[in-house]
Amino acid sequence: MASDPRSYQAPPDLLRDRAILVTGAGAGIGRCAALSFARHGATVILCGRTAARLEQIYDEIVAAGAPEPVLAPLSLERATEAEYRELATHIHEEFGRLDGLLHNAGVLGQRTSIANYDAATWQQVMQVNVTAGFLLTKALLPALREADSASVLFTSSGVGRRGRAFWGAYAVSKFAVEGLSQVLAAELEQTSRIRVNCINPGATRTAMRAAAYPAEDPASLKTPEQIMPAYLYLIGPDSSGVTGQSLDAQ
Ligand code: NDP
Repeated sequence: MASDPRSYQAPPDLLRDRAILVTGAGAGIGRCAALSFARHGATVILCGRTAARLEQIYDEIVAAGAPEPVLAPLSLERATEAEYRELATHIHEEFGRLDGLLHNAGVLGQRTSIANYDAATWQQVMQVNVTAGFLLTKALLPALREADSASVLFTSSGVGRRGRAFWGAYAVSKFAVEGLSQVLAAELEQTSRIRVNCINPGATRTAMRAAAYPAEDPASLKTPEQIMPAYLYLIGPDSSGVTGQSLDAQ
């Protein structure tokens, strides 16, 4: 493992000729990761629910002279298994493989006690944060198996390792993400070239963080750009052999 993934320095062509799918690519950390992966040579498959945001980031990537990305609008709340399979078929036809999969999209849900938690919101959070990750990974496993060294990266959180009052379904969903990542890593370790890890971004200046901590000064937080070294390390080939881990981006 790199001495410290947080201070990893990615070579400019780290991800050249790699196809990498990023969920929640339209905003926040996912947007920054998509741009950063593209700038390091990857062809990025931009997955997210708001097509207009994906188109904006598409334009930005093309304007930066990076490989032309692929637009993949998909609601992780509503997509059916057939739609995930359709996306997988498209990726297989276009690239013949998938080298990286960043499960980044997430929703916060309510900040309230379990006693007061709304059942429909609970389902929505679990669907987007956990079940969609399972369905997408399942559909994309054949394409991931075709890559020489594939990386699946799930997004966790501090509250996914130690429960905290009033974080409800969000915290529970992140515990589940850690579990899904561990189970998958163990299943794939001996039978494939796919590694599976979790990353905890830590407090980062995005809309979600602002919603969770409205009184906080955003200027006191790291920007998504500043936490990219650990993302680049884990998604790229320098983390070959690292699997079943949960790392901090800051
Ligand atoms: P943002 O709210 O800024 O961005 C979340 C992204 O997820 C958006 O692009 C959003 O799409 C997308 N998304 C939400 N729901 C769906 C859906 N149903 N289908 C498809 N896409 C969806 O969040 P962050 O960038 O802050 O968070 C990214 C990840 O990091 C999350 O998993 C979060 O839990 C985690 N995290 C963040 C921390 C932080 O401090 N920011 C700390 C710890 C963990 P749209 O653009 O359409 O809204």
